[in-house]
Amino acid sequence: MTGKEIVYDVIIAGAGPAGLAAGIELAKGKANVLILDRKQEIGCPKRCAEGLSNSWFNIMKLTPNPEWAVQKIKGAVLWAPNGKSVKMKDKKELGYVLERKMFEKHLAIEAAKLGAKILLKHQIIEAKRENGIVTLKVEVHDHVEEFKAKMVIACDGIDSLVARMLGLNTANNLKDTDSGYQYEMTNISGYDEDCLHMYFGNEVAPRGYIWIFPKRDGTANVGIGIGAYVSAETKINAKGYLDRWIEKQPGLKDGSIIEVNAGGIPVGGFLEKMDADNLLVAGDAGHMVDPIHGGGIGIAMEGGRLAAQVALKAVKANDYTSKTLGTYTKEWFTLRGNKLKTRLKSRHLLEHLSDDDFNYLAESITMDEALKIGNGSLSKSEKVMLFTIKLIKRPKLIAIMKKFFV
Ligand SMILES: Cc1cc2nc3c(=O)[nH]c(=O)nc-3n(C[C@H](O)[C@H](O)[C@H](O)COP(=O)(O)OP(=O)(O)OC[C@H]3O[C@@H](n4cnc5c(N)ncnc54)[C@H](O)[C@@H]3O)c2cc1C
Repeated sequence: MTGKEIVYDVIIAGAGPAGLAAGIELAKGKANVLILDRKQEIGCPKRCAEGLSNSWFNIMKLTPNPEWAVQKIKGAVLWAPNGKSVKMKDKKELGYVLERKMFEKHLAIEAAKLGAKILLKHQIIEAKRENGIVTLKVEVHDHVEEFKAKMVIACDGIDSLVARMLGLNTANNLKDTDSGYQYEMTNISGYDEDCLHMYFGNEVAPRGYIWIFPKRDGTANVGIGIGAYVSAETKINAKGYLDRWIEKQPGLKDGSIIEVNAGGIPVGGFLEKMDADNLLVAGDAGHMVDPIHGGGIGIAMEGGRLAAQVALKAVKANDYTSKTLGTYTKEWFTLRGNKLKTRLKSRHLLEHLSDDDFNYLAESITMDEALKIGNGSLSKSEKVMLFTIKLIKRPKLIAIMKKFFV
């Protein structure tokens, strides 16, 4: 039987973390589900530094597997512009750096074993709804095929067009988008491989940071995220900032690049509406990313799973209108979006820090204190007290930190 003759319950656009998590949940619920992706290999090329904290393993009930959870991470080091750092390191692992290609294949295998159908090199070029059925025109190698479904979950990432084709505006604005550029580098050294490293400063990465996310012995993702509008002002693009920084790092400058990745990151601009008749949106396509650090793998999977749970209700009720699907946006904000909105406010506050403020903070806070702040072991009043004592000479910073951490 060809794609044309089947009307799927749900077609998922995009086989990234959001689409695959949605596919697993729908297949578990015995829905007739098809996942389409334009790529020729699941998870490849990655557009990601591949960091995932333990909390997401718990939320998504994932057990780390050394095949794809390749580097245990026990902490983070935040580097100020003057080279001083604040280290937060625990004895046990707090998360992992993934091999995303393998991770996504693992999710795809699970989805397929549960009954989801996956087709690669299938690029959706047109979507329209007619009499309650969505028809997708899909470019397959050298020809175009049509696929039909009662509804679509748009998990097609930051470049998402599918929801827009069905009348929902999911466009990103420049202000709330970061430009990411990254090398996977090997034969590099000079950093603690148990920790994620983040380098701040207006010269280093305006409205963002440079990262080293270690990935096995002497290999790491070395990348940058900066405000997407920055390059127009400074005439230096994300690659330019990254290259000139790497050139100054003795342990990196002679390393070899084994992969180049680039992509946009939606870091705010949450959507007021992510549901419509026959349509839900999840993951980067729905701007579901942490606005402070730009992490979106876990949030995308959680959003994809929630979309699938709502879709399963539609399948059960045989009602694919907003009457059944219309609870989704609100449910997502209750589950995750409202927390991310608060973090967006914190991000805006952090954008007010000058290089001098970063330097001052790095000199003021000890590793023990940073770890306590990071792992949540201090009460609100203890945090206020700590910052007040530490930042007594910087009233502006006390105000910012109070809003950020309390
Ligand atoms: C440089 C960089 C570093 C990052 N680092 C991290 C990190 O360390 N940790 C973290 O948690 N997050 C990180 N992120 C964010 C993270 O990668 C994303 O949030 C996550 O991939 C979102 O998953 P998704 O499934 O929504 O979208 P994606 O992973 O983008 O998947 C979307 C899929 O849709 C497919 N698609 C798109 N259009 C079509 C179409 N028309 N037809 C068919 N298929 C289509 C694409 O091929 C793709 O496979 C980073 C992002 C960037 C750019």
